[in-house]
Amino acid sequence: MPPATCSSLIGLAPDALAASLAGAGVPEKSARMRARQLWNWIYVHGARDFASMSNLAKDFRGEMAAHFTLARPEVVTEQISNDGTRKWLLRTGPGIEFETVYIPEADRGTLCVSSQVGCTLNCRFCHTGTQKLVRNLTPDEIVGQLLVARDSLGDWPSTAPGRKVTNVVMMGMGEPLYNFDNVKAALAIVTDGDGLALSKRRVTLSTAGVVPMIEKAGTEIGSGLAISLHAVRDELRDVIVPINKKYPIKQLLDACRAYPGASNSRRITFEYVMLKGVNDTLADARELVRLLAGIPAKINLIPFNPWPGAPYECSDWAQIEKFAEIVNRAGYASPVRTPRGRDIMAACGQLKSESVKERASTRLAAEKLAAVQSAQLSRMPS
Ligand code: SAH
Repeated sequence: MPPATCSSLIGLAPDALAASLAGAGVPEKSARMRARQLWNWIYVHGARDFASMSNLAKDFRGEMAAHFTLARPEVVTEQISNDGTRKWLLRTGPGIEFETVYIPEADRGTLCVSSQVGCTLNCRFCHTGTQKLVRNLTPDEIVGQLLVARDSLGDWPSTAPGRKVTNVVMMGMGEPLYNFDNVKAALAIVTDGDGLALSKRRVTLSTAGVVPMIEKAGTEIGSGLAISLHAVRDELRDVIVPINKKYPIKQLLDACRAYPGASNSRRITFEYVMLKGVNDTLADARELVRLLAGIPAKINLIPFNPWPGAPYECSDWAQIEKFAEIVNRAGYASPVRTPRGRDIMAACGQLKSESVKERASTRLAAEKLAAVQSAQLSRMPS
């Protein structure tokens, strides 16, 4: 008997996948082998249904389809920028909407992945920061972003040369280190050598500075690290990146110094948004260089990307160039990040969805109303 609702196999770790198969009646002794076969179909070939798994017995495929799905997030909209950047708005349930962005470049293709619907951090220059946290994304919703992008770009199998998605950055909506377990589980799947197979060197996790989780991220996730620094003095960083009040610059940089795996060949990226008249003086640039001394660092200057109602403006180009020159002279190469996808609100810090967290009481009232309405409908003469 198939259960009333089929559950998705996407996002399960290999052991959990084998356990699910055993739970659905697959004999214990073959569950692991079956899990491996499914893993290959799902993450190497991008199979979207069991029927397409041509080397597996028909009966087995039928059984799987009766119990499970390989459902991805639903694509609500797909937008393509005039510079080739693509943005998807995805939905996984009522009011659960989030964005994913693909940025093609000459030598790589980067997928910018969300970790939360909304955010708790309230960074003053960030559009996502104006959307309250709705909830953390689950591993299947995080991995699902890569699957949707590959489906849409025709980027399967994952082992083919010349793949379009070569890099993943956890720089979409949300703070990945406030959703540690799910992000860790998802990235383990993204970097699994027998599946999606992105090298950990091609995965970067960006944090606004959740200091107590940084070392754990290095040890347990092992991806590249990016830090949203954006200011060189605590008084200013307290205002524009409020998490600084909890974990000030010195603590943050000490955590970076101790980041497991950082080296001259695996540098930590420091992101610095250029806000006109706020953090863009040449004294700021010199202080930035001084602060980062001794840390294997790259600096990414990000021209501020505007959004409706934003309280800041982007620094003048001439000022960005002068700032960059000081940073360059200190030995940090090509630091200005070209804005991509601004015309479709896909650039850094522009992501936001309409999702709002419903209060439990509002949800209950809506459910009650729906129940009353459906009871009334069923009593109506047809
Ligand atoms: N919460 C994590 C992940 C988000 S990454 C973090 O803060 O690192 C998104 C990056 O874009 C961060 O560096 C963020 O500070 C930056 N950003 C946010 N708003 C921006 C804007 N309007 N213009 C340019 N960069 C912005």
